[in-house]
Amino acid sequence: MKDTLVIVHELYPELLDKLKQTFDVVHFVRLGSDEDRAAFKEAMTRAVAFIGSNVAFDKALLEQSPNLKVIASVSVGVDNYDVAAIHDRGIVLTNTPDVLTEATADTGFLLLMMTARRASEMNRMVLDGRWNVSPGRDQFGVDLKGKTLGIVGMGRIGQAVASRGHFGFGMKVIYQNRSAKPEADKTLGARQVDLETLFTEADFICVTVPLSPETEGLIGRDLLSLTKPKAIFVNIARGKVVREQELIECLRDGTLYYAGLDVFEKEPLPKDSPLMTMDNVVCLPHIGSATHETRGAMCDLAAENTLNVLDGKAPVTPV
Ligand code: NAP
Repeated sequence: MKDTLVIVHELYPELLDKLKQTFDVVHFVRLGSDEDRAAFKEAMTRAVAFIGSNVAFDKALLEQSPNLKVIASVSVGVDNYDVAAIHDRGIVLTNTPDVLTEATADTGFLLLMMTARRASEMNRMVLDGRWNVSPGRDQFGVDLKGKTLGIVGMGRIGQAVASRGHFGFGMKVIYQNRSAKPEADKTLGARQVDLETLFTEADFICVTVPLSPETEGLIGRDLLSLTKPKAIFVNIARGKVVREQELIECLRDGTLYYAGLDVFEKEPLPKDSPLMTMDNVVCLPHIGSATHETRGAMCDLAAENTLNVLDGKAPVTPV
């Protein structure tokens, strides 16, 4: 009899077929209905392995998963997992760092450029049939070239965003991070500062710090009110790093000029969110790593981690 593998993620067909040769696979693209969630819980009572994302692994779910040996997250962020409880039970947790760094940094830069040039507003103007005259000063954007880019969380993705800014656009880079990053200081001419200095000096701010008890609600009105008149704020990390209601109020009352957001406190973004109707916001549906190549590589890595653990070998990327 084959071992049960539960997958909650879209996998490309060849990989799914390959896993089905080894495992009794219970596959959900997402847990979108009560029926899915009930079937998922039932399957987890048998599962030796889980591959997926967007499933909160708390103590209750772990209790209901007595045979589980490996949780292979298809993400780098592990804020959905009770890491201590997972390790206490001797379950191996793995993630997918590195393979998603460039695609996610691209999304950061996409938002930096869309916000700088007010691309959503301009796109809406054209599609609504309001492009009657050439856009004037009221619709102009701002340059990136020569400006200061502030990175909150100078890890793999933060440095990849900074590198695009520095080498591609001649931007000065400042960053806040809990440890020093001497290699970034050297290669990018970057300077480590505290959060207050970063929010005061940066023209563009990009958040790439993981969500953790230390970073939850890290950014709110106190920091946003330090920003320059045309400062742009981008979050590609996790919504809960920002106090969203305060961000909305700052965008509304002009404390903050513009924001680009790939992540939100609640996802999908609720239909009644004020962010839906604000001109000075660009919203994306959490697509940081969502390219064919990158998602494929993430799924391959998660599968490799799973097979390694079940074969008694070390996973490639343990948490
Ligand atoms: P990483 O390489 O681990 O970088 C995280 C950086 O944040 C590290 O430099 C770390 O400092 C720093 N840091 C952690 N806690 C901190 C704190 N309390 N204060 C200050 N700095 C702190 O991770 P990554 O691969 O760049 O990924 C970063 C995050 O991006 C993920 O956790 C995930 O939430 C998010 N992400 C989002 C998407 C998306 O679709 N939008 C896609 C991928 C990732 P140390 O070096 O000192 O540890």
